[in-house]
Amino acid sequence: MYKDDFPFFKDNDLIYLDNAATSQKPQVVLDKMNEYYTQYCSNTHRGSHDLGNRATQEYEDARASIAKFMGVGVNELIFTRGTTEAINLLATAYVKDNFDRVMLSELEHHSNIVPWQLHGLQIEVIPVDKDLNIDIKTYEQLLQKYPKSFVSITHISNAFGIINPIKELISLAHKYECQVLIDGAQALAHLSIDLKDIDADFYAVSAHKAYGPTGIGALYGKYELLDKMKPYQGGGSMIDDVTFEYSSFLDPPWRFEAGTQAIAEALGFRAALEYISKLKDLQAHNKILLEHAKSELKNIDEIELYTDAKNISGNISFNIKGIHHDDIGILLSKQNIMLRTGHHCAMPIMKKLGIEGTIRLSFAIYNTKEDIDKCIEALLKAIRMLR
Ligand code: PMP
Repeated sequence: MYKDDFPFFKDNDLIYLDNAATSQKPQVVLDKMNEYYTQYCSNTHRGSHDLGNRATQEYEDARASIAKFMGVGVNELIFTRGTTEAINLLATAYVKDNFDRVMLSELEHHSNIVPWQLHGLQIEVIPVDKDLNIDIKTYEQLLQKYPKSFVSITHISNAFGIINPIKELISLAHKYECQVLIDGAQALAHLSIDLKDIDADFYAVSAHKAYGPTGIGALYGKYELLDKMKPYQGGGSMIDDVTFEYSSFLDPPWRFEAGTQAIAEALGFRAALEYISKLKDLQAHNKILLEHAKSELKNIDEIELYTDAKNISGNISFNIKGIHHDDIGILLSKQNIMLRTGHHCAMPIMKKLGIEGTIRLSFAIYNTKEDIDKCIEALLKAIRMLR
């Protein structure tokens, strides 16, 4: 029934199981963005006319609403283009000048590896065990060896769905005076997030994976840390005073939002989180889909599942022995089943497992058990064709 909220599904019978890449958008999100473009389209933070004031108010109200959803202060939430930009912002404006070393888990997405490399930071790798859970003992040994480092870990693995115990990981890091960024790209759509409770120093998200538009996301940072950070980019809207000799800058979060922002997208982001807030069965629904998919997949001969962990959310990854994952992806697409095959931008963990990639089913609120049954039926057909 949730499919009715999403115009995408109105005129097709596609089964969309690639939600970890991006989700479809509910009508309320599209309506909010349309309202901006048709009723008060103008730039924010710039002038005295009524339209501009309305746009500014809506944009700042969106920030306040998103901050409340994540359990943080309104001045602690910087709008970015998404998780990738949030991590690049932090690496450029803060971490590269204050830390020599970044600790990353083996499960990280490329966007939580490459920005650190680009700034020449030393990377220490936190290993995962055979079920792909972080090896806490080795993690603590690394923290002991390299106190006062920076730690950056994903909340949920986009390739295997593992939910990391981030509260425990953050508390251990703080014991050794490390600071922590959590990559929340996959978590926003699946978990309730209270950043004050988990005590993250920084947290990055993308709206488009949580029913919101592309081109917008956020970086949360504790205010006292944001206040120490220098600007990421220079331009309009982030300045206090400019002369040809020097410039001074606004306080956070505006210090980090140079130039015209993704205004309609910020409003759409807010509408998406308001939509999620009303879904009482979000996590239970996800669990039902995951368990159903797992038990159906286990019946398939020659299936390779890569973890038996219970702390999984959002997606499940597998291979069929002797068949290339991309061949399955192509044959499923021909049967109207959209899912993702490949390395999922997580090449290091694929290399550790000795594989090139996987077939990944990833779920959203509009998916049903019937979607999974149709996917399994199409998968069996593809296997018969390829054997
Ligand atoms: N981290 C994780 C865990 C992800 O799944 C993704 C997107 N696949 C990203 C970071 C990057 O997100 P975006 O492309 O929206 O910036």
